[in-house]
Amino acid sequence: MTCQCEVCETLIRSSATVADGLEPALMGFVMRFGMSEPVAVYDVNAVIRGFTEAGCSDSEAWERFEFNVIGAWAGDRTPFFLWQCAGYR
Ligand SMILES: [Zn+2]
Repeated sequence: MTCQCEVCETLIRSSATVADGLEPALMGFVMRFGMSEPVAVYDVNAVIRGFTEAGCSDSEAWERFEFNVIGAWAGDRTPFFLWQCAGYR
């Protein structure tokens, strides 16, 4: 499912909801006040890149993302998808 790092171990141990097939885009997890368990977070650019590497055109990749990924609700621990700031390093 994921690598063997401490972050991934925490996700597994807490039975976090993960997005099957999107392992290469897994960034880690998020927490904030009021949350008792971690929620997985994925890199949107990496998800799209994975779809295009699998043969989708750019528009097909975004359509697949909108309908099958971000359009899927799996409860309170549905993963987050991160759009990164262009100025972030
Ligand atoms: Zn890991």
